[in-house]
Amino acid sequence: MTLTPALTDKLKNPRIVVAGGFTDGKWNTVSSRGKVFRVSNPATGEVLAQISDLSTKATKEAIEAAHAAQPAWAALAAKERADLLKGLNRLMIEHADDLATVLTLEMGKPFAEAKGEILYGAAFIEWFAEEARRVYGDTIPGHTANTRITVIKQPVGVVGVITPWNFPNAMLARKLAPALAVGCTVVAKPAAETPLSALAIARLMEWAGFPAGVFNVVPGTDAAAIGEELCANPKVAKISFTGSTNVGRTLMRQCADGIKRMSMELGGNAPFIVFDDADLDAAVAGAMASKFRNAGQTCVCANRIYVQSQIHDRFVARLGEEMARLKVGDGLEEGVTIGPLITDKAVDKVTELVGDARDQGAVIVMGGTPTGEATFYPPTLITGATKAMRLAREEIFGPVAPVFRFETVDEVIDLANATEFGLAAYFYGRDIAKVTRVAEALQYGIVGINTGLISTEVAPFGGMKQSGFGREGSKYGIEDYLDIKYLCLAV
Ligand code: ADP
Repeated sequence: MTLTPALTDKLKNPRIVVAGGFTDGKWNTVSSRGKVFRVSNPATGEVLAQISDLSTKATKEAIEAAHAAQPAWAALAAKERADLLKGLNRLMIEHADDLATVLTLEMGKPFAEAKGEILYGAAFIEWFAEEARRVYGDTIPGHTANTRITVIKQPVGVVGVITPWNFPNAMLARKLAPALAVGCTVVAKPAAETPLSALAIARLMEWAGFPAGVFNVVPGTDAAAIGEELCANPKVAKISFTGSTNVGRTLMRQCADGIKRMSMELGGNAPFIVFDDADLDAAVAGAMASKFRNAGQTCVCANRIYVQSQIHDRFVARLGEEMARLKVGDGLEEGVTIGPLITDKAVDKVTELVGDARDQGAVIVMGGTPTGEATFYPPTLITGATKAMRLAREEIFGPVAPVFRFETVDEVIDLANATEFGLAAYFYGRDIAKVTRVAEALQYGIVGINTGLISTEVAPFGGMKQSGFGREGSKYGIEDYLDIKYLCLAV
């Protein structure tokens, strides 16, 4: 087990991270024979930690622990589970600076954004602590004079949670909170790029006094092996996944044999539409927020910016002005608003998409070439984008804003829906009839109208089409972790 000074020197309390897996309340740290993997800072390349590289065997053990712990956890009063979750929420807020530092160091996002993610993650813990006590059932008038029908809801059991690197704290928090609230137990597999945030959550849960086995973390580089065990093991009742549509497909196939329940938060290709009657300043501010958060590496980032003809040139000019103010750099530096991309591969993918757009006649107004330093990519503004270009169909996952010009409402609805994805969409306009019509026509699970910020624990986050199914947050988010049972009593 090693944490390097590149990590520990930056923390107020370095004990917040342990470099191992967390199973049955114990830290599975590296033995002399154990394999380890490195976690490094994408802004500097510095190694932050060497973590136990766990795989199938450790996953099995974690599942056993979660399975053994589940009945007693479910048998607690909802208030007892809620109190533990509230304790975790308080610890997350108390240690928010350290959690945010860990997040910035392993993932790259600017510190202010990282802090925002920690508070967002903590808000899910608080929300579901509150919801834990409101898992109501139902009574239904019987179908005959002598029957009584009652509906109760029970936890599904052990949940396998697989999370991505772009929100290593919040994506985990919004799965584990509803699962634990209702009496499920969890085995989590964080992304190998960013396991430290998940391990820090486990550490805080240990400090908060959660019983052993309720929450387990299996860090490792062999995602396929860990994922396969989670999907195939009959003791896991459900998989909750956030990541790419392709990996989601694989997991669905692997869960087919066991008819395993699933929640799937997959890729997006968000349209961001600006109609001629939009409030220009608001639309530009919304585009900036939606496009450049996390350096463009979110599944709800504006991917295609459609701007109606009359407002097009003014919008592009204003967007360019705002983009020029973005500051690229190490997320721990004051004033930085765009951190590095996660890996070299990510830079290559963005470079390819921009190259393809350029080859097909798009105009690169700003940016367009990697800085050449670490994995930084500059804010890039593209006009003259068309549906033939790859960036119209694929998730860019970088700070690249392609602008498409359009003429009519019908045309842009067709363009916006012409994708297999259906996670988030945004549009700006003021005519109420058009607002209503467009909101209803967009085939997306989340529609931001005159706003670019749509993530909150109080609303149901989730997609349609190949962006997945299931919802996270809100009263709907808890249902994903419950089985409905109905009791038919003859009297
Ligand atoms: P992204 O493009 O955001 O990296 P991925 O779908 O590749 O999305 O990764 C999301 C999560 O899924 C990560 O934790 C990753 O390690 C994990 N993962 C990748 N491949 C597999 C797999 N074959 N089985 C299970 N999990 C996987």
